Amino acid sequence: MICGHYGCGGVRTAISTTDMGILNPWLGYIRDVYRLHKKELNAIKSIDEKTDRLVELNVLEHCINLVKIKDVQKALLEKRIRIHGWVFDMQTGKLVNLKFNTKKVAGKIIDIYNIL
Ligand SMILES: [Zn+2]
Repeated sequence: MICGHYGCGGVRTAISTTDMGILNPWLGYIRDVYRLHKKELNAIKSIDEKTDRLVELNVLEHCINLVKIKDVQKALLEKRIRIHGWVFDMQTGKLVNLKFNTKKVAGKIIDIYNIL
């Protein structure tokens, strides 16, 4: 399970172009997710909404990152695991299920990432 949280300060910082020194490499991974979804994110004007959507997209991209791992591919093939993407909302105390569709997503990208 990959779990993010709404209102994430790290994700909000990644949206800005501030030099964060030692944190730059870590923020770079989040900026990679922004680059992949730039069109959708640039259309969101509110910084809070943009941050929360990037939190969700970051979780979903990390679910995809799991599919790239050989042992995960093997376990998926053998139906031993499932991948879940969630976001915790600290305001309400609720966990939001992003409903990552492992079968659908893995089916679309396995031709690129298959290493079994
Ligand atoms: Zn955070």
